[in-house]
Amino acid sequence: MNTLGIILPDQLSFNNPVLSSIDDKDFLLLYEPMSAFYEIKSHKQKIVFLISALRHFMQKITHENILHKKIEKKPQSLDKYLKQIHDSNSFSVLYISKPSDFKTLKDLMYFCQSNNVELKVLEDKKFITTNKDFEIWSEGKKTTILEFYYRWLRKKHNILMTDDAKPIGDKWNLDKENRKGISKLSENIPKRKKIKNDDITIEVMIEVESIFPSSFGSLENFNWSVTHEGAKEIFKDFLDRFLPNFGSFQDAINKDNSFMFHSLLSPYLNAGLLDPMECIQEVEKRYLNPAYELPLNSVEGFIRQILGWREFIMGVYWQNMPQYKDLNFWSHGKNLSDSWYQGTTGIPPLDDAIKESIDYGYTHHINRLMIISNLMNLSGVNPNKMYQWFMEMYIDSADWVMVPNVYGMGSYADGGIFSTKPYICGSSYMLRMSNYKKGEWCDVVDGLYWRFIDKNIGFFEKNPRLSLMTRALGRLDKERKNIIFDKAEEFITNNTN
Ligand SMILES: Cc1cc2nc3c(=O)[nH]c(=O)nc-3n(C[C@H](O)[C@H](O)[C@H](O)COP(=O)(O)OP(=O)(O)OC[C@H]3O[C@@H](n4cnc5c(N)ncnc54)[C@H](O)[C@@H]3O)c2cc1C
Repeated sequence: MNTLGIILPDQLSFNNPVLSSIDDKDFLLLYEPMSAFYEIKSHKQKIVFLISALRHFMQKITHENILHKKIEKKPQSLDKYLKQIHDSNSFSVLYISKPSDFKTLKDLMYFCQSNNVELKVLEDKKFITTNKDFEIWSEGKKTTILEFYYRWLRKKHNILMTDDAKPIGDKWNLDKENRKGISKLSENIPKRKKIKNDDITIEVMIEVESIFPSSFGSLENFNWSVTHEGAKEIFKDFLDRFLPNFGSFQDAINKDNSFMFHSLLSPYLNAGLLDPMECIQEVEKRYLNPAYELPLNSVEGFIRQILGWREFIMGVYWQNMPQYKDLNFWSHGKNLSDSWYQGTTGIPPLDDAIKESIDYGYTHHINRLMIISNLMNLSGVNPNKMYQWFMEMYIDSADWVMVPNVYGMGSYADGGIFSTKPYICGSSYMLRMSNYKKGEWCDVVDGLYWRFIDKNIGFFEKNPRLSLMTRALGRLDKERKNIIFDKAEEFITNNTN
């Protein structure tokens, strides 16, 4: 009987415990053709990034007995491929780090059970916490709120804490300082460094173009590193040139520069090329060194994203799967028309965010949340269709992170598993945070916003934090209300089906 270890394309940490759990003579399968690449039209940059990163990783590990299953036009699914290699090699034990999606885990459990193979699911080293941490923290709580998990983790890992166990700066959260609109920006935004593609990446690009011709996005602007060292250099560049302004302009929308001061680190963290705790500790170390003069709002803001949001979202995912993907609080049923894939909806901030996503496989958090998902939700788009669109568009997409972000944050389809209110906005927020000019599009956005509140008035009236909106709706001039509601209906007719 043999032992098999499996490493998937987003499990590339050198600390992946599979590597230390198997012997050199045991089989180690590096499996590329993840079903998500085939079932949805994943962005080409995402497929190239993950496959090239896996092939670079393979060159670095010293394991002797490697099976390398490459992407191909019509691959066998993971369970079928496992059955095939099991038939010739007879495995008694299978080691894998916890996969990033419920379905792969379920398929592996099914395969192992039906073939009498012992399944050993090991820790996923791309996270700081485990599901057990989240379970312990959330036990007995009526609602799970990020802020309290974040504080719990700050204390547990002693991050940005004083010697007498208080948060450095006397506040846990400096978010109020992190909402500057683009009009407050006086400095130039540094240009991102150009990353040179090596032969492996170029070869993968050719394969991806031929195997996935109808996947979204173009490879023209591919500017992602595919190695651990490269990811570390990008992280260092972020610390040197972008972190100081990260906090203040975290929520700003700039029509001329899609990246602003964001880190662009999500793909590296999500694939195991960067270690989240190492990133946090490096940021904290720099903060504590006066030579760097780093502002606390940037440091705390960045650490909150990684230690707080990223870990929290992962915990929420596993606690609520598989039923999470069936939730549809608003009973929305519309499909997205092609304009959401071409950036031709007629709303400039939305169209630019869509085009950026196609060109780079990236747009920053506020574009994802307050522009794209907000407008999809206000238009009555079904959460499953939203989920599919987001999974297709981004370099960093993965089930564990997409499900809570779309069904929770982006649409409130989950009815508030972890958010106290839906994230929705009209044009005034968009204008305040961005450098877009007021125009006819504002009527459409405002029509969508007020129409949504009107349609769900019972929900908004019941919530004391939201009843303000219903009173404002009541004060809306009747004639203006008719005009903007008509424009909203027209937008929905033209952009959904
Ligand atoms: C509808 C929607 C879909 C999203 N889909 C994804 C996705 O598929 N993959 C993904 O990694 N993030 C996703 N996010 C979260 C967030 O938008 C991205 O992590 C972020 O934009 C990545 O860019 P960055 O690395 O420059 O982030 P920065 O702004 O520099 O933030 C630093 C890091 O914090 C973490 N982070 C911040 N917010 C979140 C969050 N809400 N959930 C998880 N991690 C967070 C990320 O690891 C990110 O790299 C989504 C958010 C929304 C609203």
